[in-house]
Amino acid sequence: MKTTCASLTMILFAALLISCGREEQTEFKYTTEQFADLQILRYQVPGFEELTPKQKELLYYLYQAALSGRDMIYDQNYKHNLLIRRTLEAIVNSFSGDRNTDDFKKFMVYTKRVWFSNGIHHHYSTIKFLPEFSQDYFAELVANSPEIKSTLTNGESPDDLLAKLTPILFDPNIDAKRVNLDPGVDQVAESANNNYEGVTQKEVENYYAKVTDPNDSTPISYGLNSKLVKENGELAERVWKVGGMYSPSIEQIVYWLEKASVVAENETQKVALDKLVQFYKTGDLETFDDYSIAWVADTESRIDVVNGFIEVYGDPLGYRAGYESVVSIKDLEATRRIEAIGQQAQWFEDHSPIMDDHKKQSVVGISAKVITVVVEAGDTSPSSPVGINLPNANWIRAQHGSKSVTLGNINDAYDEASRTSGMLEEFGNSAELVALEKKYGALADNLHTDMHEVIGHASGKVNAGVGTPKQSLKSYGSTIEEARADLVALYFLMDPKLVEIGVMPSLDVGKVAYNQNVRNGLMTQLRRLKLGENLEEAHMRNRQVVAKWVYEKGLPDKMIEKVVKDGKTYFVISDYEKLRELFGQLLREMQRITSEGDYEAAKNLVETYGVVVDPELHAEVLARVEKLKLAPYSGFINPKLVPVTDGEKIVDVKIEYPEDFAQQMLEYAHEYSFLPNYN
Ligand SMILES: [Zn+2]
Repeated sequence: MKTTCASLTMILFAALLISCGREEQTEFKYTTEQFADLQILRYQVPGFEELTPKQKELLYYLYQAALSGRDMIYDQNYKHNLLIRRTLEAIVNSFSGDRNTDDFKKFMVYTKRVWFSNGIHHHYSTIKFLPEFSQDYFAELVANSPEIKSTLTNGESPDDLLAKLTPILFDPNIDAKRVNLDPGVDQVAESANNNYEGVTQKEVENYYAKVTDPNDSTPISYGLNSKLVKENGELAERVWKVGGMYSPSIEQIVYWLEKASVVAENETQKVALDKLVQFYKTGDLETFDDYSIAWVADTESRIDVVNGFIEVYGDPLGYRAGYESVVSIKDLEATRRIEAIGQQAQWFEDHSPIMDDHKKQSVVGISAKVITVVVEAGDTSPSSPVGINLPNANWIRAQHGSKSVTLGNINDAYDEASRTSGMLEEFGNSAELVALEKKYGALADNLHTDMHEVIGHASGKVNAGVGTPKQSLKSYGSTIEEARADLVALYFLMDPKLVEIGVMPSLDVGKVAYNQNVRNGLMTQLRRLKLGENLEEAHMRNRQVVAKWVYEKGLPDKMIEKVVKDGKTYFVISDYEKLRELFGQLLREMQRITSEGDYEAAKNLVETYGVVVDPELHAEVLARVEKLKLAPYSGFINPKLVPVTDGEKIVDVKIEYPEDFAQQMLEYAHEYSFLPNYN
């Protein structure tokens, strides 16, 4: 599973806490350019310099392995993507006409969008986006770019290429959606991704009904690493492995992983890397499970890597996984903060406002860590998740555990970018609060996440025989569960205990968190909805339930005041202590609903407070955000690792921070283009 920024709207308001150590680096430019609905950011890798040369060498091999698989995600997303990307790149590299025209600028925007989405379908909505230049101009570009010849195969002429690509790029009805989840259609046939060919949804479902055993308690992840096709009337899996589909890319990954294994930090890490190599060589999914188990066991290493076919969001039926890699180092300082919180899990449980019957006698905080990303590739790049929780196989999670990580430096980059977005100045209700939030916003946000994950989800117990919230509360289960975890965090964010254990300097951090949550839940998160839409997503519903409930209950005492200044609405908290008590009351009720499985109460709370949007306030928010010209989605330029060699031997690795998105994309295309146009 991955967490994306769409579920962390608070990030918009957070700001980096500038510590002495970081002040000298304030020159670092987090934001670069903005186009269409996208913004390009950069991120830093604090901690890299303190690694040993051997650790850096390991990182370098994992970095190479990560980028070597990059072509695969393009082809997985859509079978024409590699040809399209190479055509666009040939134009960028060699177009001999005027590059200062509006048309050429539109062409560059389109090309950058393709790079950003790893293909011609929007990375988030999965809908095909269209060029804003004309078909005639495309013909002109193709005719005047000599490098186009290098993308041609089988005796094609540039005109053949043009005839082939023009409808694919310009006709909105051809392969309109990468992932079509509409329950009324054949989702396999109507999805443009390259996971299936010549098969219907029914055929896929029948195929897997036959091969899976419902009584198998340790099932492999069927279909995870193959394309399902029809050959001579029979369904067949084309497996992604050495010697199979995508072999040229996978051979490169194996080459670098084998080098990485030699310089592994310890035996546990080496075992995991070797199993991953074995998986890529055989394509055997039982080996993949062995690898996942070995990877979960590797908790001591400073360096970690996700590399493989991991998330299945790209397949409407959830079988086939996109290639991705995240190479990282453990963030020691943030991990210490989480550990300090986790060690107090029992104290928090004992001091929680929930009923004694619903408390756990012995509670263990959920272990979590913060990582510092060094490079991302495939499905996780340029658009990055902010949290990762793996492996995905449920039985492995239950028997062997899982790793839940926050991508610390990615979050920091978002925070930094938000400091200059103008959102805080627009929606913050006083200069004093804006200043406080600039100071503590990032910390408040991080602590809220830590408390939510480590303490919130671990807290409380369900009465015997009630079942999980998913079973008892059905479609309201995840909203209630997220609200419960959020409320645990909010309740304790104003507790001196957090100051006492050294994770925050003062209760001001809690005040900032209260402002962020009230404002976001009542107002600013509405920017993600179109006018007339209601709240659907569980996290968004939970935030409004919490904020609207405390707002209403606090009305008699004017605990949160709705103030309108110059036609702009603000919500002003007048008494933080009393607000904390209200959060506590609501937490007690949320826990009761969960413990007793009270479906009616869950439904009542969510439907009353969490679904319907105030249309006037919504329109106001959209108008105020519109003025700021913010890009809804962000992606990242990766750092670059450069080896320092003595003869054949790598003696050190330097890290560089490129600033130009297009240049990085062209460089990657040049260095890591291992697959043919069609696979
Ligand atoms: Zn949660």
